Amino acid sequence: MSGLAHLWQGVRGWVYPPACGVCDVPLTTERQVERPFLCGDCESTLKAIEDGYCEICGQRYDAPLLGAFQCANCKDRELAFDFAVSAWRSAGVARELMHRFKYGQQVHLSRLVGSLISVVWRDERLLRDSWVVVPVPLHPKRLRERGFNQSREIAVEMMRYAPPGIELEMCDLLRRTRHTVRQAQLDREDRLRNPDGAFELKSYRLVKRLEDEEKELNLLLVDDVMTTGSTVSECASVLREALEPDRIAAVSVLRG
Ligand SMILES: [Zn+2]
Ligand SMILES: [Zn+2]
Repeated sequence: MSGLAHLWQGVRGWVYPPACGVCDVPLTTERQVERPFLCGDCESTLKAIEDGYCEICGQRYDAPLLGAFQCANCKDRELAFDFAVSAWRSAGVARELMHRFKYGQQVHLSRLVGSLISVVWRDERLLRDSWVVVPVPLHPKRLRERGFNQSREIAVEMMRYAPPGIELEMCDLLRRTRHTVRQAQLDREDRLRNPDGAFELKSYRLVKRLEDEEKELNLLLVDDVMTTGSTVSECASVLREALEPDRIAAVSVLRG
């Protein structure tokens, strides 16, 4: 985010008292500290993805699961990440909030969205010594339009909520080369096909540095919304080709 945008956010926060980012009701100071920009009523409608999700792609299941399984979403597919975890179902308030954050010039909602994704840290597979955090990039054209990359803002906030003892470093390793059609506008088959070839390495210097470090290399991709997992898988395959990571995980705030 630019300095000017930060300044604007500051002024905005000073002029307008904090309000719910979804329904606009004013928030008390205590509430604002506890859960920035979200009222209790809106929060109570959010649906967490806690148990019953695919251990590979993170797709949620309503029926209770018994033992290891492979879900219909990732059956017959080669996913380049090891596992994915999402925090909340993409519906109702959660979807509206993300929409306002991304398309409504409301970058201050990154605090809230970041606090929402923090529940993914409950997944024990994320409790490693270190992660290199890689936000899913936006195409430069879209970045100019929006003024910020929502995945990067979310990643910054998410890192603040990490359990103690995990070493985290943000690395913008990827760049988006193709201006893809918005995923929401595509059906499932198109979504699976769409991101092919959309990403490439941004910095060979960074790759070299990571290669030279003599520690486990764990890469953590961060996205705002995951649907089939194709986008993060495409990112993961570029990273896998460039580096030899010990593992690649992907996390998102919402799961479609
Ligand atoms: Zn509300
Ligand atoms: Zn799956």
